[in-house]
Amino acid sequence: MDRQEMLYLSILADAMLCAALILLWLGQREERHAVYWGLGQLALGFMTVLWVFQPYPPGTWLFHLHRLEILTCFSVGLLLYIQGTQVFLGAPLAWRRLGYGFLSLILLFTLLGNIDRTLSEPLAVLFIGGVLAWAGYRLALRRPVYRLVGAIFLLRGVLNVAFALNLTNHHWLPTLYLLAFFTKTLSMLGLLYVVQHEVRERFPNAMRFLSDGIWVHDRAGKILYANPACVRLFGGDQNDNLQGGYIHDFVHSVTNELLESYYHLLSLPDESFPLCIESVGVGRQGSLFPLEGLISPYWEHGNLLFLVQLRDISARKRQEQLLLSAANVDDVTELASRYALNERLATLTAEGAPCHPHALIFLDLDDFKRINDTLGHPLGDALLHGAGDRLSQLMDDVSCVARFGGDEFVVLLPGASEEGVRELGLQLASAITNSFREPFVLGNMNVVVTTSIGIAFYPEQASDGDMLLRYADSAMYAAKRGGRNQYRVFDDALAKAAHDSLTLDIELRQAMKNKEFSLVYQPIIDVRSGNWCKVEALVRWNSPRLGMVSPDRFIPVAEESGLILPLGRWILQEACRQLGAWQRGENITLANVSMSVNVAAWQLADTHFIQDVEQALQAAGIAASSLELELTERTLIEEDPVISASLQALRSMGVKLALDDFGTGYSSLNYLSRFMLDTLKIDRSFIIDLESNQRCRDLTRHIIGMGKTLGLVLVAEGVETQAQAELLGQFGCEQLQGYLFSRPLPAIELAQQGVVCE
Ligand code: C2E
Ligand code: CA
Ligand code: CA
Repeated sequence: MDRQEMLYLSILADAMLCAALILLWLGQREERHAVYWGLGQLALGFMTVLWVFQPYPPGTWLFHLHRLEILTCFSVGLLLYIQGTQVFLGAPLAWRRLGYGFLSLILLFTLLGNIDRTLSEPLAVLFIGGVLAWAGYRLALRRPVYRLVGAIFLLRGVLNVAFALNLTNHHWLPTLYLLAFFTKTLSMLGLLYVVQHEVRERFPNAMRFLSDGIWVHDRAGKILYANPACVRLFGGDQNDNLQGGYIHDFVHSVTNELLESYYHLLSLPDESFPLCIESVGVGRQGSLFPLEGLISPYWEHGNLLFLVQLRDISARKRQEQLLLSAANVDDVTELASRYALNERLATLTAEGAPCHPHALIFLDLDDFKRINDTLGHPLGDALLHGAGDRLSQLMDDVSCVARFGGDEFVVLLPGASEEGVRELGLQLASAITNSFREPFVLGNMNVVVTTSIGIAFYPEQASDGDMLLRYADSAMYAAKRGGRNQYRVFDDALAKAAHDSLTLDIELRQAMKNKEFSLVYQPIIDVRSGNWCKVEALVRWNSPRLGMVSPDRFIPVAEESGLILPLGRWILQEACRQLGAWQRGENITLANVSMSVNVAAWQLADTHFIQDVEQALQAAGIAASSLELELTERTLIEEDPVISASLQALRSMGVKLALDDFGTGYSSLNYLSRFMLDTLKIDRSFIIDLESNQRCRDLTRHIIGMGKTLGLVLVAEGVETQAQAELLGQFGCEQLQGYLFSRPLPAIELAQQGVVCE
């Protein structure tokens, strides 16, 4: 083979290898160094061909152009080799430096070529040798896996240097050329190997450095690959390898049947991947730990394989456990929490669960709010803790004692039969009531707290946990209404009331939309003149389905559902509008009365209430002083800051305030002075027995006397007889209201029998 043939062969080999390198790059577009190396070699190959064939006579411009082409191929080849090596070793791309390098080479060799051609050719070869040797050295040094490829490059470089320095014997020249050709081809094949190896290793490398454990197993559970994190996960050290083992040895209770059933799951069409499973991992020393696996199935050479990402979830489980116990235990009393109780009730009453009779005892401490406010929260908490302890002492292991919230406790008590559980429930309720007779020692104080208890039975009365709780709760409220410090069993009467309030609630919502409400007005007379000085607005509901419903029935339901807010707003507006109409002459007899409107605690606790009152007064065009709001003691006892602020605002507007139903609630004189009321309304229950009962008479006289010393206007409600009216007059009561004078009447009827207030 002569030199020319060899050259052709060489450039052909270069072209093929370069194409192979570029193809490798095209596969993933990651191995950019492959392109640089390939094109670099191609450029050098072209340079050699151009160099050897010199078709133009020296000195002509074509000759110079030809030289420039050679020079360009040379510079580009060298720089691309450098660039490829740098990129491969992870050095950043330096295009600007390459640009300078390119210009410098062109400039240097153009100058040299003009000065001395014999010098420029060997120098170019020397440059090439240097760069190739440098690339080989760097490769071998930085990536020892590619030592051999590095060594070949080094050899190639050394050969080039030897040619350049003319160190070779002419005799050996053909052999050396052959050797150079082989080393060049070999080095290119080496580069191909390097690129391909990198591609192949990229996935295992990523796996190796991943912090999560990864394994691949086949259908039989045989582990085909496991990364180091996976080995560590199961307690192995650097020398361990799970490969070849079976997942049965590493994951608790894995059997072939289980795997098969599980593979079946994977083949279902609507299953989405990865599948997440939780299981128990078995460490090398037999230690167990919670394990999470994300499983992705895939096919390889016709085999179904599973790539599983594994993670030790001990920390997460601990956290969950902590949260669960925090959710299950009440931190003030250390009893079961409301959440835990609900869970237990849900299990008890779950569909298909065996029916075990239970009694649910609902307790509420009487007057806890007052104690908590007077003694402060730390002692309040201590009291709750003490109450919880006392309950626990009365319980056996199978009962559940929970703090339901605030000062409410719930005991869930199992029994053998419905009769048995009834008896047990009553016994326990009475034992609790007795045990609360003993005072609690709080700091250096002895405090007696009583409880009101409601009891309901499962499954006799309620079929689910919610219902059971609701029934026991309503029995507890009945016990409270009955005078506290007692227990009450949920019964038919309470069930009826509960049912009624539910129907009422539904009907009320309709009534609001259908405008089924109206107002009636009951006059209040001035004792001395006998004239009307006030009227009390009272709401009426004429339901098309239920007939006339007493406000005593529907107002509490409206309060509970929150419907009292829109309803109360309407009542206020309507009463004010009516008074405005009277004042503007619609009815001369009623032009000077003032209007009393009943207001529920909920309304006062509503932050918009003051605005509502202002709007109602303004729209009706009446003075604030002609409006009186009737509050109950329940409203004042709330001690809600919003209520206090509302009362203050009403006073400063000039609206009058009356305390309704005095004597039925707490009858605390405290409120009378504290809230600077204008009027006190003595409850009808005192008036009924006025004639027959001496004690009642004494009490009424006392209340009137006390009210007067506080500067209050006294109104007696429910006056039905002349005798009552006379007695009240003697006691000094200034205003009277009752059927004796008039029933509450619609505005039109009232006007027809009006007596003017002078
Ligand atoms: P209350 O505020 O104590 O109203 C007086 C109640 O006693 C009225 O019953 C009235 O009709 C009745 N009454 C008046 N004089 C006599 C009498 O001589 N003998 C007898 N036996 N009863 C008499 P009513 O209208 O059924 O109202 C009952 C309760 O419903 C009211 O008691 C009040 O608490 C509530 N209520 C009525 N209207 C409203 C209202 O517009 N808003 C609010 N929040 N509550 C209202
Ligand atoms: Ca009233
Ligand atoms: Ca009243």
